[in-house]
Amino acid sequence: MRRIFLAALGVLLLGATAAPPYSIQAIRLADSRGDAVAEMVIGAPKDEKIDTVYALWLIRGGGHNILFDSGFHRARWFKELVIKDFLSPDEAVRLAGVKPEEVTDVVNSHAHWDHMGGIDPEDAVELVRLNTEGRLRLIDGDNVEILPGICAYMGGRHTFASQYLRVDGSPPFVLASDNVYLYRNLTEHRPSATFSEADYPANLANQQRMILLAGGSMERVIPGHYALQFQKYPTAGRIANIR
Ligand SMILES: [Zn+2]
Repeated sequence: MRRIFLAALGVLLLGATAAPPYSIQAIRLADSRGDAVAEMVIGAPKDEKIDTVYALWLIRGGGHNILFDSGFHRARWFKELVIKDFLSPDEAVRLAGVKPEEVTDVVNSHAHWDHMGGIDPEDAVELVRLNTEGRLRLIDGDNVEILPGICAYMGGRHTFASQYLRVDGSPPFVLASDNVYLYRNLTEHRPSATFSEADYPANLANQQRMILLAGGSMERVIPGHYALQFQKYPTAGRIANIR
């Protein structure tokens, strides 16, 4: 049974269990061309452009097939934006060898259109329905172990209560989603786009925290829209094998 994890007020109680070995893969849903860097790396030159990706991440281990972010599919986005080479999220997980019905858990970093469909009215109704079935889990607070060895953190403030994940293991990895858009946020110490300008310091503090959580390595913090995650790690087609 698939469960959805959202950051919000709520209670999550889990017993201490040893973390299983988890594999981590990034799956490229689509490409975006010529995006303004300054909208992702605050303070970057205004006219600088970069090609980016839309992605989701698949974490497997301990009998779980966990999706971090669930992508998008609604027709409106294809009318409003230039989205290249799109693959639907269900086909994306199939490519990685997981049938959509075999996904056991979905963890959503935030409710923007490209990570959770944008919380259209139909999605909100679906979340309510899942909640009545006991399948929606609201994560209360920061540094919460949601599954053995997988912790959810807040503080990046890309949106209110936007989350990032640390996946335990040798070595550990941090999946930043849009709390870090590109590696340049990390290398140049520049904030990712945040809920408010007042949150830039919190975003920078959390970038440093992510590096520490990843065992001190910037290379093990995976930014949300960075195209080169599909070159930096062994990649076959649309799937990067991060660990
Ligand atoms: Zn995004």
